[in-house]
Amino acid sequence: MRLGRSDARRTVAQYRKMGAAERTVLREKRLNELVMYAKANSPYFAKLYSGINIDESFSIKDLPKLPPTNKAGLMSDFEGWVTDRRVRIAEIEKLVEDPANIGKPYLGEYLVLTTSGTTGKPGIVIYSESAMNVLSAVHRAFTFIRGHDYVKWMIRGGTTATIVAADAFNGTNVMSHILAEEDPKLIYKSHFINLFDPIPSVVESLNKLKPAMMFAYPTLMKILTEEKRAGRLKVSPVLITSGGEHLNMQDRKEIEAVFRCPVQSAYGCTEGGPIAHDCRHQRLHLHDGWIIMEPVNKNNEPVPCGTLADKWFMTALASHAQPIIRYEVSDRVILHDEGCPCGDPSPWVEVEGRIEETFTCPGVDRDVSILPSVLYETMTAVEGMREYQVILRKDRDLELRIVADDRALAFERASKALQRILDVMGATSKILLSEDRPQLEPKSGKLRKFKIEK
Ligand SMILES: [Zn+2]
Repeated sequence: MRLGRSDARRTVAQYRKMGAAERTVLREKRLNELVMYAKANSPYFAKLYSGINIDESFSIKDLPKLPPTNKAGLMSDFEGWVTDRRVRIAEIEKLVEDPANIGKPYLGEYLVLTTSGTTGKPGIVIYSESAMNVLSAVHRAFTFIRGHDYVKWMIRGGTTATIVAADAFNGTNVMSHILAEEDPKLIYKSHFINLFDPIPSVVESLNKLKPAMMFAYPTLMKILTEEKRAGRLKVSPVLITSGGEHLNMQDRKEIEAVFRCPVQSAYGCTEGGPIAHDCRHQRLHLHDGWIIMEPVNKNNEPVPCGTLADKWFMTALASHAQPIIRYEVSDRVILHDEGCPCGDPSPWVEVEGRIEETFTCPGVDRDVSILPSVLYETMTAVEGMREYQVILRKDRDLELRIVADDRALAFERASKALQRILDVMGATSKILLSEDRPQLEPKSGKLRKFKIEK
């Protein structure tokens, strides 16, 4: 299955017109192709599935027979995981050292993305051109789910501001580069603002650009909403897109009221691309033509629709270069199969809020806000930590809890990286190493990596 750009867009458009039965047939076919391909071409999956009968009759109901996978296991044998024997992890690690390579293909055909993680080293994801065409077609189709948003955006000149970690190989960044390059007219209208810039500087950049459309993570969007309310931010986009973190209904309403434009939110991850997008009833419909979601409990047992799951297994049907099959995603979700008034027969999903809060640190002359996404990007780039937690203490110093083979070295690296961010933002909090281990939340059992001491 190789899909060019226009084929991919057509396939995505056709799927949206299909009824539930027709969609299932296509999904079954795609799953069968992926699983057979993975067993035949990935040494990792060949070994994992040895002894499991996989043939043309393999279907979605057989998925639970396959052992689940996770990032740590797959990344430990990256070259065995991928299905192209030419791929070398050392070459990719070198490529991602230079931000100038964002969006440039490896071996002339694979786009490279990195994921943040807790294992110390970032995960690496490669997409074939065909898969990237599919993901960008999905992303594009659902960003403009209301056709008139597209028209208004064009009338207003098509300027877009994307606020992300500008030098990172994350999904938003790479996808935005690709979308801009797909349409040469838009390249010079698509602008990136660095998430790591201090807020006044982000506001200044936006005021200069006057974007017709802008993307920011929800936590940053909330801060920008305050800037707009205070009159410092003077932009009037026709559409705001958001993702990466959970956007709750109240925040969405507030952003929409202050900016007087709709907010389109999405749920996605680097390994699977766009997983779900809002419909006009603000329900995140699963892109089930390309993603199979199996909600499960802590013991990997299936959880029925309508019930909160501890995590879920993702099967990404376009992931032939690096198969993602029953891949563990730690978000707590509720999958809904009851209909939606919008008429889309695909199930929709509620994602439990990623519960990180914005840190407010003391500054030289005023308090400064540091976003969880900034802290997250900073900490995941630190090598040698198995787990960590950053606490904003009551005295507003930062306490680091680290699990690592060499804690002193890990602290040295982490505190240096954090100090750089504090300096850029003008925050004066001190960074301290704690003797404690990271502590799980008593109720949910989840680890809050960035916690405010109450
Ligand atoms: Zn809907």
